[in-house]
Amino acid sequence: MIQSMWDTAETRRSPAEWALDWLWHKPEISSVLSGMSAMQQMVENLASAEHAAVGMLTQPELAIVERVRGAYENLRATSCTSCAYCMPCPNGVDIPRTFLILNSGLMFGNMAEARKAYTRLMRDQSPSILASSCQQCRDCEEQCPQNILISEWMPYAHQILGEGKEYRPEDRPER
Ligand code: SF4
Ligand code: SF4
Repeated sequence: MIQSMWDTAETRRSPAEWALDWLWHKPEISSVLSGMSAMQQMVENLASAEHAAVGMLTQPELAIVERVRGAYENLRATSCTSCAYCMPCPNGVDIPRTFLILNSGLMFGNMAEARKAYTRLMRDQSPSILASSCQQCRDCEEQCPQNILISEWMPYAHQILGEGKEYRPEDRPER
């Protein structure tokens, strides 16, 4: 679904190129720091910087970016960015990993794999890492820049990932 939106653009770009060009487009941005783990990514990022220019995206291209952004917003459960500012949890819960597994399962339409990943956590690590260990102390919520109601999300995420409950957007806590 997302790829079909990108495919409506006159100029074809990879998802990484879209992200970089969207940043270069903005007049308030003078440098972009992107994580790289392979030489090919370095080459691609340098190529992107070579053609960077303020205002480089057209209005139709910006509209496509907005449509993609909206689609991702609807697909994922929370706006967690895995920044881990909420860690460590005094009760051992791996908050970013819980959200990553849940969001990935929803965005890629593969909750079966997400539930397997969650079960592996239980098997490979201490059970306290699971969202079910949350004691609703809310210490983590003060640290979250996304203002996610983590204490409400953890039990709900465990029901979905650990107990097989169906995810329904209308049941979810506030983001
Ligand atoms: S609310 Fe839950 S997840 Fe957050 S710090 Fe407390 S026990 Fe950990
Ligand atoms: S602080 Fe918030 S956004 Fe960052 S990892 Fe924790 S829940 Fe996610």
